Amino acid sequence: MKATCWMGRNTVEVREVPDPRILNSRDAVVRITSSAICGSDLHLYDGYVPTMKKGDILGHEFMGEVVEVGPKVSTLKVGDRVVVPFPIACGNCTSCEHGMYSVCENSNPNAGLAEKLMGHAPSGIFGYSHMLGGYPGGQAQYARVPFADVGPIKIEDDLPDEKVLFLSDILPTGWMGAEMCDIKPGDTIAVWGAGPVGQFAVASAYLMGAERVICIDRFPYRLRLAERAGAEALNYEDVDVLDTLRDMTAGRGPDACIDAVGMEAHHPTPAMYAYDRVKQAARLETERPYALREAIMACRNGGIVSVIGVYGGVLDKFPMGSLMNRSLTLRSGQCHVQRYLKPLLAKIRDGEIDPSFVITHRMRLEDAPRGYEMFKNKTDECNKIVLTP
Ligand code: NAD
Ligand code: ZN
Ligand code: ZN
Repeated sequence: MKATCWMGRNTVEVREVPDPRILNSRDAVVRITSSAICGSDLHLYDGYVPTMKKGDILGHEFMGEVVEVGPKVSTLKVGDRVVVPFPIACGNCTSCEHGMYSVCENSNPNAGLAEKLMGHAPSGIFGYSHMLGGYPGGQAQYARVPFADVGPIKIEDDLPDEKVLFLSDILPTGWMGAEMCDIKPGDTIAVWGAGPVGQFAVASAYLMGAERVICIDRFPYRLRLAERAGAEALNYEDVDVLDTLRDMTAGRGPDACIDAVGMEAHHPTPAMYAYDRVKQAARLETERPYALREAIMACRNGGIVSVIGVYGGVLDKFPMGSLMNRSLTLRSGQCHVQRYLKPLLAKIRDGEIDPSFVITHRMRLEDAPRGYEMFKNKTDECNKIVLTP
């Protein structure tokens, strides 16, 4: 089959690789009909996630048709149409029983690698480094789906791929980012990052009853998409974010702040950008956490900072004093996607949300290398790319 392979920093190639096979009794093999490129893939592409190996198959947002099932998968049959959540989870361990699927205790065969860096290991994730299980991803023609009796959700009606594909990751992720804010009527929520994840966080915050949602980025075309989801847009190249947020909230700050940027934040001030860029390049910190620092500083006293942007290791100049002295709460996590599949599918079916509004580009799988370049550099007003084999 054809698959998108990580070949080193800034290089992906679509190559011929062996077809996946059933290895365990709870596996299924899915013929992929649509997949997508995610901001998380850029962290791999840019070489900031350790334990990638040349040839690793990328992709953790995908859906398709079941073509083979292992003997213990009684919930799926050949021909079923499924969306596959990006965290791999067993459904039986203590974490899974508590709905914390992205920290499943049974799905990461390389837990030891992750423990060295993080203390304890999170779950396996499709196409997301050896530290997170070394599982081949779904920007390919086929994928093996472990614990197929737990993760995939069947799509039994005629909703097109583009409306349900993002159940695999970014729609539940934006939703969880808003959910972690404990939104109450009248709340003002600020979202850093007007990428697809930020856009879904904006839409979710409104669905949960926020009064105002303010979204911060520097790309006007992305801010326009956030505005379409209802946000008030702030371009940090035009205004001072902290001052403006203070002015917009009678001096108090937003009730909750969502970081939908992650480890590769861009800085409006060249000096701080240089500081983090150099330290990140020298591996003295693994992150450039500018948006996170700003989210903490901006948040009102006693508010919540919800981190859905991905971080990989250690960071620097973390405003712990602000967090501690002002009674802030910090919440975070890779999305526990399995938890949100059914309720969000119902919202899509009911027309409460149509996630396809984030898509700007559709490409053949063979064009993935061009897609990565375009999505990385935000050229051609690229917001979200869907790949079809
Ligand atoms: P993206 O690259 O399309 O969007 C990121 C946006 O952040 C860009 O528009 C960029 O201009 C903006 N940005 C950069 N620096 C900024 C700053 N200082 N202030 C404000 N905005 C800034 O990526 P995406 O697909 O939207 O993903 C966003 C983040 O969410 C990534 O870190 C990704 O890894 C993460 N993510 C997390 C999960 C999870 O489960 N927690 C799931 C999916 C994605
Ligand atoms: Zn993703
Ligand atoms: Zn588990």
